[in-house]
Amino acid sequence: MADCIFCTIGRGDGQATYVHKDDQVVAIEDLRPAAPVHVLVIPRQHIETVRELEDQALLGRLFEVANQVADQKGIAKDGYRLIFNVGPHGGQTVYHVHLHLLGGRFMSWPPG
Ligand code: AMP
Ligand code: ZN
Repeated sequence: MADCIFCTIGRGDGQATYVHKDDQVVAIEDLRPAAPVHVLVIPRQHIETVRELEDQALLGRLFEVANQVADQKGIAKDGYRLIFNVGPHGGQTVYHVHLHLLGGRFMSWPPG
């Protein structure tokens, strides 16, 4: 989709700090980090929310990349949080599906 920021980043043309790239998925540093580690794992294909993500292999790949980045960042032992925000009440602001990887500090529960 031409005017979608995560499509642009997925093509590799966006202004982003990439921590992972493969043929299906990119991972970038979040522009406004909510934790010491805040990475977004994004499929290159434009899919609005996780509800429309029907490709189970791609869904699995997003989690696999997130876990790999957690290893790279050295936060695997202490733990981290993986989140899909879905729709307005879920706090989704960018309608191109992305998996948040948050870590480097204790995450309280429940989230706000
Ligand atoms: P969500 O609210 O779940 O849709 O998350 C969108 C996330 O994308 C937020 O954490 C934003 O800070 C982040 N974000 C928005 N635009 C960019 C960008 N150009 N580069 C990196 N992160 C971005
Ligand atoms: Zn898109």
